[in-house]
Amino acid sequence: MIAPRSIASSSRRPAARPSAVLPLAAAALAIAVSAAAQPAPFNVGPVTAAPGTIVSGTLAVAARAGDEGTTIPISVAHGAKAGPVLALVAGTHGFEYPPILALQRLRASLDPTALAGTVIMVHVANMPSFLGRTVYYSPVDGQNLNRVFPGKADGTLSERIADVITREVIAPATAVVDLHCGDGNEDLRPYSYWITTGPPAVTDETRALALAFGLDHIVVDTARPTEPGASVYLSNTAITRGKPGLTIESGGMGLVDEASIARIERGIAGLLRHLGMRPDGPPPVEHPIWIERSQVLVAGATGLFHAAVEKGHTVAEGTVVGHITDFHGRTLETIRAPFAGEILYVVGTPPVTKGEPVGFVGEVKRD
Ligand SMILES: [Zn+2]
Repeated sequence: MIAPRSIASSSRRPAARPSAVLPLAAAALAIAVSAAAQPAPFNVGPVTAAPGTIVSGTLAVAARAGDEGTTIPISVAHGAKAGPVLALVAGTHGFEYPPILALQRLRASLDPTALAGTVIMVHVANMPSFLGRTVYYSPVDGQNLNRVFPGKADGTLSERIADVITREVIAPATAVVDLHCGDGNEDLRPYSYWITTGPPAVTDETRALALAFGLDHIVVDTARPTEPGASVYLSNTAITRGKPGLTIESGGMGLVDEASIARIERGIAGLLRHLGMRPDGPPPVEHPIWIERSQVLVAGATGLFHAAVEKGHTVAEGTVVGHITDFHGRTLETIRAPFAGEILYVVGTPPVTKGEPVGFVGEVKRD
């Protein structure tokens, strides 16, 4: 567990200076402050960024028997001034395009000379899934990358990707944001996940990240593992290591839509402002809807899913969310909302396998 040093805002406040400092001591202090204000180069794997520069490269996931390994494209924007280290990860699921495109734009637009601290961008975490155009699962090993954290150095390809991200990206970060949208089959309204199972200071700072990102629906997630060795999810890997970790969702259905990309760009700008990495940016969301009760609806049968609702629809308890039919069209299952709420996502394409999600309902309390 890493000490709360990694809670970004507390460590950056300048120390109080004694009111009567001797000239020599003042000079020494000035030199010390000057050295602190000019950070050393920042390394992420083979990528080294000098202060005030942005450098791109790749992290290698070495080949092992059974697969050829892969690469993870990254960029490191290292500010001219010291500050937090914000890791932004896109493409944990390779069919989720708005986060990937938002980071392409950030790479092109971010000015490292005007930045305090460091931004690590993971452009495509799951290259096999991205190039293979797969939903949920890697085409190489059949695993969901966002279920195998913190990964294993000698494991499957997905486990080795997770291991590289844990060691090279999450370890040096002081805050981690995993950028998602509905997968290629998921019709989703935007929301964030606020994980509350970490230490209180980490939970508070994660809440502040969620507000700063600006999405107005925030799912309160009270049931994530607390063991660092079995963190399962990417953002929870940060939390179990004592630093804030946020997951956001914007977009879905394999679409490349401007609104979903722009929402992520705005969210990142809000984070940079909140963390003190840039002087300006959009304000935090003022009146978010906290979703304290939510439930993933799971298919009880394999076949064709026919949605009866869309993202953002309000449902009553018992409202039909969709049907599953067999491959000849006979109804196998009718899926209903377990309580009144809002459809956060619903599967929008026919293929469904028993045990997979078909929708996500959140109870909405407006006050
Ligand atoms: Zn995802």
